[in-house]
Amino acid sequence: MPELTAIKSKLPNVGTTIFAVMSKMAQEEGAINLSQGFPDFNCDEGLRKLVAKYIDGPHNQYAPMPGMLALREAIARKTEKLYGANYDPETEVTVTAGATQAIYTAIAATIREGDEVIVFEPAYDCYVPSIELHGGKPVYVSLEPPTYKIDWSRVRKLINSRTRMIMINTPHNPTGMIMTAADMKELQKITAGTDIIILSDEVYEHIIFEGEQHQSVTRYPELAKRSFVISSFGKIYHTTGWKMGYCLAPASLSQEFRRIHQFVVFSVNTPIQLAYAEFMKQEEKYLELPAFFQKKRDIFNGLLTGSRFQLTPAGGTYFQLLDYSRITDEKDTDFAIRLTKEHGIASIPISVFYHNKADHKMLRFCFAKGEQTLQEAASRLCKI
Ligand code: PMP
Ligand code: GLN
Repeated sequence: MPELTAIKSKLPNVGTTIFAVMSKMAQEEGAINLSQGFPDFNCDEGLRKLVAKYIDGPHNQYAPMPGMLALREAIARKTEKLYGANYDPETEVTVTAGATQAIYTAIAATIREGDEVIVFEPAYDCYVPSIELHGGKPVYVSLEPPTYKIDWSRVRKLINSRTRMIMINTPHNPTGMIMTAADMKELQKITAGTDIIILSDEVYEHIIFEGEQHQSVTRYPELAKRSFVISSFGKIYHTTGWKMGYCLAPASLSQEFRRIHQFVVFSVNTPIQLAYAEFMKQEEKYLELPAFFQKKRDIFNGLLTGSRFQLTPAGGTYFQLLDYSRITDEKDTDFAIRLTKEHGIASIPISVFYHNKADHKMLRFCFAKGEQTLQEAASRLCKI
Protein backbone atom coordinates (compact mmCIF):
# COMPACT_ATOMS: atom_id res chain seq x y z
CA MET A 1 0.00 0.00 0.00
CA PRO A 2 1.38 3.48 -0.79
CA GLU A 3 2.32 5.31 2.40
CA LEU A 4 2.43 8.88 3.64
CA THR A 5 6.05 9.87 3.97
CA ALA A 6 6.08 12.33 6.83
CA ILE A 7 4.38 10.81 9.85
CA LYS A 8 6.16 12.12 12.91
CA SER A 9 5.73 9.60 15.71
CA LYS A 10 4.41 10.91 18.99
CA LEU A 11 6.22 8.07 20.76
CA PRO A 12 9.35 7.62 18.64
CA ASN A 13 11.23 5.62 21.26
CA VAL A 14 8.49 3.13 21.97
CA GLY A 15 8.50 -0.33 20.42
CA THR A 16 5.99 -3.13 20.90
CA THR A 17 5.27 -3.80 24.57
CA ILE A 18 7.38 -6.58 26.10
CA PHE A 19 4.21 -8.47 27.06
CA ALA A 20 3.17 -8.85 23.43
CA VAL A 21 6.73 -9.68 22.34
CA MET A 22 7.32 -12.43 24.92
CA SER A 23 3.85 -14.00 24.65
CA LYS A 24 4.24 -14.19 20.86
CA MET A 25 7.70 -15.74 21.22
CA ALA A 26 6.37 -18.25 23.74
CA GLN A 27 3.65 -19.27 21.31
CA GLU A 28 5.99 -19.54 18.33
CA GLU A 29 8.50 -21.58 20.31
CA GLY A 30 5.90 -23.73 22.08
CA ALA A 31 7.39 -22.55 25.40
CA ILE A 32 5.65 -22.49 28.79
CA ASN A 33 4.48 -18.91 29.01
CA LEU A 34 5.31 -17.42 32.40
CA SER A 35 5.91 -14.01 30.82
CA GLN A 36 2.76 -11.90 30.38
CA GLY A 37 0.73 -11.92 33.59
CA PHE A 38 -2.48 -13.91 33.23
CA PRO A 39 -3.89 -17.09 34.76
CA ASP A 40 -3.89 -20.29 32.71
CA PHE A 41 -7.02 -21.51 34.52
CA ASN A 42 -10.57 -20.44 33.83
CA CYS A 43 -12.56 -17.88 35.78
CA ASP A 44 -15.36 -18.99 38.11
CA GLU A 45 -18.19 -20.89 36.48
CA GLY A 46 -20.74 -18.87 38.45
CA LEU A 47 -19.34 -15.67 36.97
CA ARG A 48 -19.50 -17.07 33.45
CA LYS A 49 -23.11 -18.09 34.02
CA LEU A 50 -23.98 -14.60 35.21
CA VAL A 51 -22.50 -13.06 32.04
CA ALA A 52 -24.55 -15.51 29.95
CA LYS A 53 -27.67 -14.63 31.94
CA TYR A 54 -27.24 -10.92 31.36
CA ILE A 55 -26.45 -11.35 27.68
CA ASP A 56 -29.66 -13.38 27.31
CA GLY A 57 -31.38 -10.79 29.52
CA PRO A 58 -31.12 -8.81 27.28
CA HIS A 59 -28.63 -6.24 28.57
CA ASN A 60 -26.66 -5.59 25.44
CA GLN A 61 -26.84 -1.84 24.87
CA TYR A 62 -24.69 1.03 26.14
CA ALA A 63 -24.14 1.27 29.85
CA PRO A 64 -24.37 4.70 31.48
CA MET A 65 -21.17 6.68 30.86
CA PRO A 66 -19.62 6.24 34.37
CA GLY A 67 -20.70 2.58 34.62
CA MET A 68 -23.74 0.58 35.73
CA LEU A 69 -24.92 1.98 39.06
CA ALA A 70 -25.20 -1.51 40.58
CA LEU A 71 -21.51 -2.11 39.92
CA ARG A 72 -20.43 1.31 41.16
CA GLU A 73 -22.40 0.66 44.34
CA ALA A 74 -20.78 -2.75 44.79
CA ILE A 75 -17.31 -1.20 44.34
CA ALA A 76 -18.10 1.53 46.87
CA ARG A 77 -19.37 -1.06 49.35
CA LYS A 78 -16.22 -3.16 48.98
CA THR A 79 -13.98 -0.12 49.45
CA GLU A 80 -15.89 0.94 52.56
CA LYS A 81 -15.77 -2.51 54.06
CA LEU A 82 -12.11 -3.27 53.36
CA TYR A 83 -10.51 0.14 53.76
CA GLY A 84 -13.08 2.22 55.68
CA ALA A 85 -13.33 4.82 52.92
CA ASN A 86 -16.55 6.29 51.58
CA TYR A 87 -16.80 6.93 47.85
CA ASP A 88 -20.06 8.17 46.38
CA PRO A 89 -21.05 5.78 43.56
CA GLU A 90 -22.77 8.67 41.72
CA THR A 91 -19.81 11.00 41.57
CA GLU A 92 -16.65 9.24 42.73
CA VAL A 93 -16.57 5.79 41.11
CA THR A 94 -16.04 5.26 37.37
CA VAL A 95 -15.93 1.90 35.58
CA THR A 96 -13.24 1.69 32.90
CA ALA A 97 -11.94 -0.55 30.13
CA GLY A 98 -9.28 -2.05 32.36
CA ALA A 99 -6.76 -0.34 34.60
CA THR A 100 -4.77 0.68 31.53
CA GLN A 101 -7.51 2.99 30.31
CA ALA A 102 -8.01 4.35 33.81
CA ILE A 103 -4.31 5.17 34.13
CA TYR A 104 -4.24 6.84 30.72
CA THR A 105 -7.38 8.81 31.47
CA ALA A 106 -6.23 10.02 34.91
CA ILE A 107 -2.98 11.24 33.38
CA ALA A 108 -4.73 12.84 30.40
CA ALA A 109 -7.05 14.65 32.80
CA THR A 110 -4.32 16.19 34.93
CA ILE A 111 -0.90 16.31 33.24
CA ARG A 112 0.05 19.29 31.10
CA GLU A 113 3.16 20.30 29.14
CA GLY A 114 6.12 20.58 31.51
CA ASP A 115 4.47 18.91 34.51
CA GLU A 116 6.74 16.53 36.37
CA VAL A 117 5.55 13.09 37.40
CA ILE A 118 7.50 10.99 39.88
CA VAL A 119 7.71 7.42 38.67
CA PHE A 120 9.26 4.53 40.60
CA GLU A 121 11.28 2.14 38.48
CA PRO A 122 11.02 -0.65 37.47
CA ALA A 123 7.69 0.80 36.29
CA TYR A 124 4.74 -0.91 34.65
CA ASP A 125 5.15 -0.14 31.00
CA CYS A 126 2.07 1.98 30.24
CA TYR A 127 2.97 4.73 32.73
CA VAL A 128 5.70 6.67 30.95
CA PRO A 129 4.17 6.72 27.43
CA SER A 130 0.92 8.03 28.91
CA ILE A 131 2.80 10.81 30.71
CA GLU A 132 4.87 11.75 27.66
CA LEU A 133 1.88 11.84 25.31
CA HIS A 134 0.53 14.65 27.46
CA GLY A 135 3.75 16.64 27.55
CA GLY A 136 4.63 15.51 31.07
CA LYS A 137 8.15 14.77 32.20
CA PRO A 138 8.78 11.53 34.07
CA VAL A 139 11.15 11.98 37.01
CA TYR A 140 12.58 8.61 37.91
CA VAL A 141 13.29 7.11 41.31
CA SER A 142 14.87 3.73 40.97
CA LEU A 143 14.06 0.88 43.32
CA GLU A 144 17.01 -1.38 43.96
CA PRO A 145 17.14 -5.13 44.44
CA PRO A 146 16.73 -7.19 46.48
CA THR A 147 14.09 -5.30 48.52
CA TYR A 148 13.01 -2.63 46.01
CA LYS A 149 11.96 -0.43 48.93
CA ILE A 150 11.29 3.25 48.31
CA ASP A 151 14.00 5.65 49.50
CA TRP A 152 11.84 8.58 50.57
CA SER A 153 14.76 10.91 51.12
CA ARG A 154 15.45 10.66 47.38
CA VAL A 155 11.82 11.34 46.56
CA ARG A 156 11.82 14.39 48.81
CA LYS A 157 14.78 15.87 46.94
CA LEU A 158 13.02 15.56 43.60
CA ILE A 159 9.88 17.42 44.60
CA ASN A 160 9.56 20.99 43.37
CA SER A 161 6.89 23.40 42.16
CA ARG A 162 6.56 21.53 38.83
CA THR A 163 5.79 18.18 40.52
CA ARG A 164 2.22 17.44 39.53
CA MET A 165 1.86 13.76 40.28
CA ILE A 166 3.42 10.82 42.11
CA MET A 167 2.57 7.38 40.74
CA ILE A 168 2.65 4.48 43.14
CA ASN A 169 1.91 0.80 42.64
CA THR A 170 1.40 -1.58 45.55
CA PRO A 171 1.67 -4.57 45.47
CA HIS A 172 4.29 -3.72 42.88
CA ASN A 173 4.60 -5.16 39.41
CA PRO A 174 7.20 -6.45 38.51
CA THR A 175 9.03 -6.76 41.85
CA GLY A 176 6.32 -7.98 44.26
CA MET A 177 7.34 -5.24 46.73
CA ILE A 178 4.53 -4.06 48.99
CA MET A 179 4.29 -0.60 50.50
CA THR A 180 3.96 -0.49 54.29
CA ALA A 181 2.02 1.82 56.59
CA ALA A 182 5.33 3.65 57.17
CA ASP A 183 5.65 4.22 53.40
CA MET A 184 2.15 5.66 53.27
CA LYS A 185 2.93 8.02 56.15
CA GLU A 186 6.06 9.22 54.32
CA LEU A 187 3.98 9.83 51.22
CA GLN A 188 1.50 11.75 53.33
CA LYS A 189 4.25 13.93 54.83
CA ILE A 190 5.83 14.64 51.46
CA THR A 191 2.59 15.68 49.81
CA ALA A 192 1.07 17.62 52.74
CA GLY A 193 0.45 21.24 51.84
CA THR A 194 1.09 20.66 48.10
CA ASP A 195 -1.20 20.25 45.08
CA ILE A 196 0.44 16.99 44.12
CA ILE A 197 -1.93 14.35 42.78
CA ILE A 198 -1.32 10.68 43.52
CA LEU A 199 -2.09 7.98 41.02
CA SER A 200 -2.28 4.77 43.02
CA ASP A 201 -2.24 1.64 40.89
CA GLU A 202 -3.72 -1.02 43.16
CA VAL A 203 -4.58 -3.71 40.63
CA TYR A 204 -3.00 -6.40 42.87
CA GLU A 205 -4.81 -5.24 46.02
CA HIS A 206 -6.13 -8.76 46.67
CA ILE A 207 -2.89 -10.60 45.92
CA ILE A 208 -0.86 -10.00 49.07
CA PHE A 209 0.84 -12.59 51.25
CA GLU A 210 1.86 -13.56 54.79
CA GLY A 211 -1.29 -11.99 56.25
CA GLU A 212 -0.15 -8.46 55.33
CA GLN A 213 -2.83 -5.78 54.94
CA HIS A 214 -2.96 -4.02 51.59
CA GLN A 215 -2.04 -0.39 52.17
CA SER A 216 -4.61 1.23 49.94
CA VAL A 217 -4.34 5.02 49.75
CA THR A 218 -8.07 4.97 50.49
CA ARG A 219 -7.19 4.07 54.11
CA TYR A 220 -5.51 7.49 54.48
CA PRO A 221 -7.96 10.40 54.09
CA GLU A 222 -5.11 12.89 53.58
CA LEU A 223 -3.88 10.80 50.65
CA ALA A 224 -7.30 9.81 49.33
CA LYS A 225 -8.34 13.43 48.87
CA ARG A 226 -5.59 13.87 46.23
CA SER A 227 -5.68 10.39 44.68
CA PHE A 228 -6.91 8.45 41.71
CA VAL A 229 -7.14 4.86 42.95
CA ILE A 230 -7.18 2.31 40.16
CA SER A 231 -8.00 -1.38 40.25
CA SER A 232 -8.67 -4.14 37.73
CA PHE A 233 -11.32 -6.85 37.68
CA GLY A 234 -8.96 -8.79 35.42
CA LYS A 235 -6.74 -9.53 38.44
CA ILE A 236 -9.56 -9.98 40.94
CA TYR A 237 -11.59 -12.53 38.98
CA HIS A 238 -9.05 -14.20 36.64
CA THR A 239 -10.61 -12.35 33.71
CA THR A 240 -7.77 -10.35 32.18
CA GLY A 241 -9.34 -10.76 28.73
CA TRP A 242 -12.51 -8.90 29.73
CA LYS A 243 -10.55 -5.67 30.21
CA MET A 244 -12.53 -4.00 32.95
CA GLY A 245 -11.41 -1.95 35.93
CA TYR A 246 -12.34 1.15 37.86
CA CYS A 247 -11.14 4.46 39.18
CA LEU A 248 -12.00 5.95 42.58
CA ALA A 249 -11.37 9.64 43.14
CA PRO A 250 -12.93 12.57 45.00
CA ALA A 251 -15.74 14.23 43.03
CA SER A 252 -13.66 17.06 41.57
CA LEU A 253 -10.97 14.70 40.27
CA SER A 254 -13.59 12.20 39.08
CA GLN A 255 -15.33 14.97 37.17
CA GLU A 256 -12.14 15.73 35.25
CA PHE A 257 -11.56 12.01 34.77
CA ARG A 258 -15.03 11.55 33.29
CA ARG A 259 -14.59 14.51 30.92
CA ILE A 260 -11.92 12.45 29.19
CA HIS A 261 -13.36 8.96 29.83
CA GLN A 262 -16.58 9.84 27.96
CA PHE A 263 -14.61 10.56 24.78
CA VAL A 264 -12.12 7.72 25.09
CA VAL A 265 -14.62 4.85 25.51
CA PHE A 266 -17.87 6.51 26.63
CA SER A 267 -18.77 3.39 28.63
CA VAL A 268 -17.79 -0.27 28.93
CA ASN A 269 -19.32 -3.73 28.45
CA THR A 270 -22.84 -3.81 29.96
CA PRO A 271 -23.49 -7.53 30.63
CA ILE A 272 -20.07 -7.99 32.20
CA GLN A 273 -20.62 -5.02 34.51
CA LEU A 274 -23.92 -6.51 35.65
CA ALA A 275 -22.33 -9.91 36.19
CA TYR A 276 -19.48 -8.46 38.28
CA ALA A 277 -21.98 -6.42 40.32
CA GLU A 278 -23.87 -9.57 41.26
CA PHE A 279 -20.75 -11.68 41.74
CA MET A 280 -19.18 -9.13 44.07
CA LYS A 281 -21.82 -10.06 46.66
CA GLN A 282 -19.77 -13.23 47.23
CA GLU A 283 -17.00 -11.53 49.14
CA GLU A 284 -15.10 -14.76 49.67
CA LYS A 285 -14.25 -14.81 45.98
CA TYR A 286 -11.77 -12.00 46.46
CA LEU A 287 -11.03 -12.59 50.14
CA GLU A 288 -9.67 -16.05 49.31
CA LEU A 289 -7.14 -14.73 46.77
CA PRO A 290 -4.20 -14.14 49.14
CA ALA A 291 -4.23 -17.78 50.29
CA PHE A 292 -4.91 -19.06 46.77
CA PHE A 293 -1.95 -17.24 45.24
CA GLN A 294 0.38 -17.63 48.21
CA LYS A 295 0.03 -21.39 47.77
CA LYS A 296 1.07 -21.07 44.13
CA ARG A 297 3.98 -18.83 45.04
CA ASP A 298 5.14 -21.30 47.67
CA ILE A 299 4.83 -24.28 45.33
CA PHE A 300 6.81 -22.53 42.60
CA ASN A 301 9.47 -21.17 44.94
CA GLY A 302 9.72 -24.47 46.81
CA LEU A 303 10.33 -26.33 43.56
CA LEU A 304 13.14 -23.94 42.71
CA THR A 305 15.14 -24.66 45.87
CA GLY A 306 18.27 -26.28 44.63
CA SER A 307 18.21 -24.46 41.28
CA ARG A 308 20.90 -21.92 40.48
CA PHE A 309 18.32 -19.11 40.45
CA GLN A 310 18.06 -16.95 43.58
CA LEU A 311 14.72 -15.71 44.77
CA THR A 312 13.31 -13.21 47.20
CA PRO A 313 9.75 -14.13 48.15
CA ALA A 314 7.28 -11.69 46.63
CA GLY A 315 5.12 -9.84 49.18
CA GLY A 316 2.32 -9.59 46.65
CA THR A 317 1.29 -9.86 42.95
CA TYR A 318 1.46 -13.11 41.00
CA PHE A 319 5.01 -12.53 39.91
CA GLN A 320 8.29 -13.90 41.19
CA LEU A 321 11.63 -12.33 40.34
CA LEU A 322 14.55 -14.69 39.85
CA ASP A 323 18.15 -13.51 39.98
CA TYR A 324 20.16 -15.52 37.44
CA SER A 325 23.58 -13.98 38.10
CA ARG A 326 24.98 -17.32 39.28
CA ILE A 327 24.18 -18.80 35.85
CA THR A 328 25.39 -16.23 33.34
CA ASP A 329 26.26 -12.57 32.91
CA GLU A 330 24.24 -12.30 29.71
CA LYS A 331 21.95 -9.27 29.39
CA ASP A 332 18.52 -10.05 30.83
CA THR A 333 16.85 -9.40 27.46
CA ASP A 334 19.21 -11.89 25.76
CA PHE A 335 18.85 -14.47 28.51
CA ALA A 336 15.03 -14.20 28.41
CA ILE A 337 15.10 -14.97 24.69
CA ARG A 338 17.53 -17.87 25.13
CA LEU A 339 15.48 -19.26 27.98
CA THR A 340 12.41 -19.23 25.76
CA LYS A 341 14.08 -20.72 22.71
CA GLU A 342 16.47 -23.22 24.29
CA HIS A 343 14.73 -24.18 27.52
CA GLY A 344 11.07 -23.60 26.65
CA ILE A 345 10.28 -21.07 29.44
CA ALA A 346 9.16 -17.54 28.63
CA SER A 347 9.70 -14.79 31.23
CA ILE A 348 9.98 -11.00 31.32
CA PRO A 349 13.36 -9.23 31.55
CA ILE A 350 13.24 -6.48 34.17
CA SER A 351 15.58 -4.00 32.50
CA VAL A 352 12.81 -2.99 30.08
CA PHE A 353 11.01 -1.33 33.00
CA TYR A 354 13.92 1.05 33.71
CA HIS A 355 14.37 4.10 31.44
CA ASN A 356 18.15 3.51 31.48
CA LYS A 357 17.67 -0.24 30.95
CA ALA A 358 19.42 -1.03 34.26
CA ASP A 359 20.20 -4.72 34.16
CA HIS A 360 20.21 -6.40 37.57
CA LYS A 361 20.15 -9.91 36.02
CA MET A 362 16.55 -10.45 37.03
CA LEU A 363 13.70 -12.13 35.19
CA ARG A 364 10.02 -12.06 36.15
CA PHE A 365 7.96 -15.26 36.18
CA CYS A 366 4.17 -15.36 36.50
CA PHE A 367 3.00 -18.11 38.85
CA ALA A 368 -0.75 -17.68 38.22
CA LYS A 369 -0.71 -21.14 36.66
CA GLY A 370 -1.96 -24.64 37.36
CA GLU A 371 0.24 -26.88 39.51
CA GLN A 372 1.34 -29.07 36.61
CA THR A 373 2.52 -26.06 34.62
CA LEU A 374 4.45 -24.78 37.65
CA GLN A 375 6.03 -28.19 38.15
CA GLU A 376 7.10 -28.52 34.54
CA ALA A 377 8.41 -24.96 34.46
CA ALA A 378 10.38 -25.43 37.69
CA SER A 379 11.86 -28.71 36.52
CA ARG A 380 13.13 -26.99 33.37
CA LEU A 381 14.55 -24.10 35.39
CA CYS A 382 16.29 -26.49 37.80
CA LYS A 383 18.21 -28.04 34.90
CA ILE A 384 19.80 -24.74 33.88
N1 PMP B 1 -1.15 -1.87 36.30
C1 PMP B 1 -0.40 -2.94 36.60
C2 PMP B 1 0.62 -2.81 37.66
C3 PMP B 1 -0.58 -4.13 35.92
O1 PMP B 1 0.17 -5.19 36.21
C4 PMP B 1 -1.56 -4.20 34.91
C5 PMP B 1 -1.71 -5.46 34.13
N2 PMP B 1 -2.80 -6.07 34.45
C6 PMP B 1 -2.33 -3.07 34.64
C7 PMP B 1 -2.09 -1.92 35.34
C8 PMP B 1 -3.38 -3.07 33.58
O2 PMP B 1 -4.54 -3.74 33.96
P1 PMP B 1 -5.73 -4.02 32.92
O3 PMP B 1 -5.41 -5.32 32.29
O4 PMP B 1 -6.96 -4.04 33.76
O5 PMP B 1 -5.71 -2.91 31.94
N1 GLN C 1 -0.18 -6.74 33.50
C1 GLN C 1 0.32 -7.81 32.74
C2 GLN C 1 1.77 -8.10 33.12
O1 GLN C 1 2.38 -7.35 33.85
C3 GLN C 1 0.30 -7.58 31.26
C4 GLN C 1 -0.80 -6.82 30.68
C5 GLN C 1 -0.52 -6.54 29.23
O2 GLN C 1 -0.18 -7.43 28.49
N2 GLN C 1 -0.62 -5.31 28.86
O3 GLN C 1 2.28 -9.06 32.66
